[in-house]
Amino acid sequence: MPVVGMVGGGQLARMTQQAAIALGVRLRVLAGDPEESAAQVCSDVRIGSHTSLEDLMSFAEGCDVVTWDHEHVPGEHIRALEAAGVVCRPGSAALLHAQDKLVMRERLSALGAPCPAYTAVHSTDDVTAFGEKHGWPVVLKATRGGYDGRGVWVVGSPDEAAALVDRVIATGTALMVEEKVAFRRELAALVARSPHGQGAAYPVVETVQQDGICVEVVAPAEGLDDETAAFAQKLALGIAEELDVTGLLAVELFETADGVVVNELAMRPHNSGHWTTDGARTTQFEQHLRAILDLPLGDTDANAPWTVMGNLLGGDDPDIFERYEHVMAHDPGMKIHFYGKGVRPGRKIGHVNVSGDDLSRLRARAEHAALYLRDPGLVYPEERK
Ligand code: ADP
Repeated sequence: MPVVGMVGGGQLARMTQQAAIALGVRLRVLAGDPEESAAQVCSDVRIGSHTSLEDLMSFAEGCDVVTWDHEHVPGEHIRALEAAGVVCRPGSAALLHAQDKLVMRERLSALGAPCPAYTAVHSTDDVTAFGEKHGWPVVLKATRGGYDGRGVWVVGSPDEAAALVDRVIATGTALMVEEKVAFRRELAALVARSPHGQGAAYPVVETVQQDGICVEVVAPAEGLDDETAAFAQKLALGIAEELDVTGLLAVELFETADGVVVNELAMRPHNSGHWTTDGARTTQFEQHLRAILDLPLGDTDANAPWTVMGNLLGGDDPDIFERYEHVMAHDPGMKIHFYGKGVRPGRKIGHVNVSGDDLSRLRARAEHAALYLRDPGLVYPEERK
């Protein structure tokens, strides 16, 4: 059976290990520390740095395919691995579009995919000129390295731009600016594509963000008309093909009054696909393994009318075991996924999935678990200490 190497020891690698067990695939993980989420559960852990070419090269030795749990491996290292004959999926050329937002915008616009207006930023003047043309506020973004809303700034005026842009550029961060899209809600289209070109699309979901972090996913997106859903799925499959993506591709979308607009891309299992573990015939983690190994893809159908995923974020009190017990006792039908990570305020430490046919009830159940785990006082004010 093949050996898959996943660079990065986070929760995505941890949950990929779960899928690898059932498929009989061997997973090897490159983690920075033995305590990382995936390193705790994987039998073949190599400790090293994803920014060291030497560590990556020795990690890749004996792997049939190398894949990624995050976007932070330098492109030149991936190209060096490829030049040495390592099979990287997705490859460096595709992955660049998930690593650099400006490259992604340029390519998707050239392909005719709907995108917000944007431009590269070299000085405050670029932002001011863009704001004058497209209207304020605008959204300033680091082209690389951002996640969970870090590296995204809403800028309301030329004065705000003046206060921010030079300061950020001085830290060596490359910037771009986009129009602020007046979206109704955020959606995500998750697809898989294998090297010989088989594609599969999951139902389009709604993602709910608070402070730049995804807190809830509703699968499928409520009230999304069939035409828009099919358009989003075809758009994602088309992008996967044009960019030669192998493995999963998540296309984050804004739904506007005139249809959908692409926000950004991820080429790995994605938070918007965590619902599939309990709500779809094939989990996104299994699908990623199938796709990168060029195996036939699994069925993407939902196995319930609705599945709601609630992200569990840490609160002020790191001692969560009693709250964990409460959540289980309160809702035996809820599926709990913990990542083995230390609890810190706002940190993603796990998620819950609930499936059924009463959407508002499912949302309330997921919210109860998320709030209670963070702080019981958020659910039962009378218990507030
Ligand atoms: P990250 O890489 O940190 O996930 P994103 O580019 O996805 O950053 O932006 C984070 C959030 O900021 C988005 O989920 C969305 O809510 C908001 N956002 C990003 N770009 C725009 C935009 N052009 N217009 C309006 N809101 C935006």
